[in-house]
Amino acid sequence: MSSSPYPKLIEKLKRSHLLGTVSGLLGWDEQVNLPTDSSDQRAEQMALLAELGHSAAADPEIGALLQELENSRAVLDGDQQTVVRHARRDYDRVTRLPAAFVSERARLNSNAYHAWARARAENDFPAFAPFLEKHLEMARREAEYLGWGDRPYDYALDKHDPGTTCDVITTLFSELKAGLIPLVAEILSSPLKSPTGLFRGFPIEEQRRFLREVTERLGFNYRRGRLDVSLHPFCEGAGADVRMTTRFNEDEPLDALFSSIHETGHGLYEQGLPLSDQGTPLGQAIGMAVHESQSRLWENQVSRSRAFWTFFEPRFRAHFPTQTQSLSSDQLYRAINAVEPTLIRVDADEVTYNLHILLRFEIEQSLFRGDVTVRDLPSAWNECSARILGMSPPSDSKGVLQDVHWSGGMFGYFPSYCLGNMIAAQLWYKANADLPGLEADFASGNFGRLLGWLRHAIHSQGRRFDTLGIVRHVTGEDLSPRYLLRYLRERYSPLYLMGDRKNEV
Ligand code: ZN
Repeated sequence: MSSSPYPKLIEKLKRSHLLGTVSGLLGWDEQVNLPTDSSDQRAEQMALLAELGHSAAADPEIGALLQELENSRAVLDGDQQTVVRHARRDYDRVTRLPAAFVSERARLNSNAYHAWARARAENDFPAFAPFLEKHLEMARREAEYLGWGDRPYDYALDKHDPGTTCDVITTLFSELKAGLIPLVAEILSSPLKSPTGLFRGFPIEEQRRFLREVTERLGFNYRRGRLDVSLHPFCEGAGADVRMTTRFNEDEPLDALFSSIHETGHGLYEQGLPLSDQGTPLGQAIGMAVHESQSRLWENQVSRSRAFWTFFEPRFRAHFPTQTQSLSSDQLYRAINAVEPTLIRVDADEVTYNLHILLRFEIEQSLFRGDVTVRDLPSAWNECSARILGMSPPSDSKGVLQDVHWSGGMFGYFPSYCLGNMIAAQLWYKANADLPGLEADFASGNFGRLLGWLRHAIHSQGRRFDTLGIVRHVTGEDLSPRYLLRYLRERYSPLYLMGDRKNEV
């Protein structure tokens, strides 16, 4: 057995993954704990680990083992074939890029990030444009190195969400857009507006206690994870040790709560991946969209529901008795489900959020097709924003420069957010069909049946399916925006008194 190439491959993959977890931990620490003047040493530590990580992932012995296993494919079982297929893909992506290209991009990432931050602060798009042009050129070259030279944007999409293509996403997004734009218009024309300014002076320590109670009850295992504070919330780490972060504001308790629930969704996925397969494709997440489906499902379908608040509202009031004294249940529920268009993606509610992604998807396609040059990007953005969001930004800082992604060359990433919303909704209806009385569970504070269902349907699968394949496998249907549109209508129609579905929640 010890001479068999398969266990040797697993050993190599786990070693490479383990190195990744060390740099992940240092990255987490950098954002949570690092003393202000210690960043130089941290940069050196990170660079050293990146170097070690790269040589572990690009170890020529992995290449030799893969070749041996590919030649004897007939004797491998289904799971082993899954591992070999993904390990090959990962190995090629690490080894086919010339070292000079990799270091050039690392430098560009760092320079472009600082250029972007400055350009955004000073509303100076032309200062950032050369960096973006360079990133675009490098994205094309990367696709070429990997054998996708004729379809660079498809490569960028597939990198984040295996199995997706520009054509598939275009079809899904057009159908979504056709249903979403009228829905947003109906909500906005409603005489019922979202309440504002309801929350003042929610002590941070108490917020921390409340959201710990919530996330623990949703099923996050704090013996294998933590929740800390950082400037931007994120979730880092895998199965054995998952680190989540949030941020607090005394006047925005729902912000910390929902961002923590969102990260908990990511954390539950990581904690649900089979621990014994950690570091191999059977113990890894499928891609960004599926990851996002887990965070969105807990954040939106579950935690914005009446049933969830039937259980948690009394607890919320118990934690904040004076602050919630004059707050009615209806006001609270409306604040939780407020729809208010904004120019800024990260501030958007769950309805209009998707429009921000449709906008970015259109822009990225135009860039990759060459229909729009980087120099013309601000005007293309503003035109698209007016057409899709119904608003034009007053400045590039609030428009084309608002997101960090492109400064890191992350093209093809934005669609994952919206695909994640669609997948979440489709899973939600399937879970409800499979688990009658699910919302009654929530109303009594029990989320275990839903988590168990997700563990079985999604988490335990590792990377056995691709993005579209897992949806088909679990729901028996192709991914469709129908479910997201249905969910949004069912949630928001009663709140905004649209049609005759008055107050039917
Ligand atoms: Zn997320």
